[in-house]
Amino acid sequence: LRSRLPDVGTTIFSVIGQLSAAHNAINLSQGAPNFPCDPQLIAGVTRAMEANHNQYAPMTGLAALKTALAEKVNTLYGTRYDDECEVLITASASEGIYSAISGLVHPGDEVIYFEPAFDSYAPIVRLQGATPVAIRLTVPEFRVNWDEVRAAITPRTRMIIINTPHNPTGQVFDRADLDALAAITRHTDIIILSDEVYEHVVFDGKIHHSMATHPQLAERSVIICSFGKTFHVTGWRVGYCLAPAALMNEICKIHQFLMFSADTPMQYAFAGYMADPTTYLALAGFYQRKRDLLRTLLADSPFRLLPSAGSFFMLASYGHFSDEPDSDMVQRLIVDHGVATLPLSAFYSDATDNNIIRLSFAKDDATLRAGAQALCQVN
Ligand code: GLN
Repeated sequence: LRSRLPDVGTTIFSVIGQLSAAHNAINLSQGAPNFPCDPQLIAGVTRAMEANHNQYAPMTGLAALKTALAEKVNTLYGTRYDDECEVLITASASEGIYSAISGLVHPGDEVIYFEPAFDSYAPIVRLQGATPVAIRLTVPEFRVNWDEVRAAITPRTRMIIINTPHNPTGQVFDRADLDALAAITRHTDIIILSDEVYEHVVFDGKIHHSMATHPQLAERSVIICSFGKTFHVTGWRVGYCLAPAALMNEICKIHQFLMFSADTPMQYAFAGYMADPTTYLALAGFYQRKRDLLRTLLADSPFRLLPSAGSFFMLASYGHFSDEPDSDMVQRLIVDHGVATLPLSAFYSDATDNNIIRLSFAKDDATLRAGAQALCQVN
């Protein structure tokens, strides 16, 4: 069989999830909550199902939900998206990423992205017959060197993929990053694909710098967001996408044939639930407390914790006490210590190993305590 992606194996999230389950390990690997969502949200889904909202939703999403999102984005980021033709409900943020890349990137194009990176970006770019161009974030700050970006741009550059707050490093862009990106892309037709699924998870009083806050960037940006990450329901697979009408039109051409539409009862539930912004506005504080709890619990562990400014994740380095490859470390942590994490090398196309692992603190406190206790036993 001639594979489209011969060098691609099973995604690390699946591999480690299975290994973790097989060893009954405490799972700090996936960025998915293990605690329940608000029962109100479940009641909303149940009500929608009972009201017989069980057939296809409109192709671009339920009107009430798109209107609620357009209002939310206008309130939070000060940019008005047309709720009819600039908001798309997707069957997961992952689908949004796929539909956007597939709809906008041509064979022969180059797409710049930053490593370490979420593992789907580069393979999706390659499937278009385009070339992913990886730029490394600085180590250990994990920031973008914008001079490198400027130097990497060619006439073929079609898209730059941004992710803030950043998975897996927990770094966030500041205003200067957006200004630099705007300056570099001015007078080009480069599209920004901005993965902002952790938009509400920014810590220490900082704010999330969405591409939507920057008019010059907003006009060339496709923004990807997630209901799963925001409302603790990653299994429901609903996300959304914001983009100027001309870009959105092309994205919809893919979405309509890939999914046609996203889950109907969930869309009804989110539309009702979103009327109260308290839940998503409380999310930063909620996860900051978890980050801080995990940091405190790991104070006496041998790991060195890197700063996390947002997202569900914190990096931990161990090069000062062991030089084993990070995948071996992760394997050993699962098998010998009963705690699952992820190797940072899995987020690099060439498996660069910095002796760093990723911890997810999107877990209930008991799990964080048990996981931290296990990590404190390591030597
Ligand atoms: N975004 C989540 C993470 O990084 C999960 C992604 C996935 O499992 N596909 O852990």
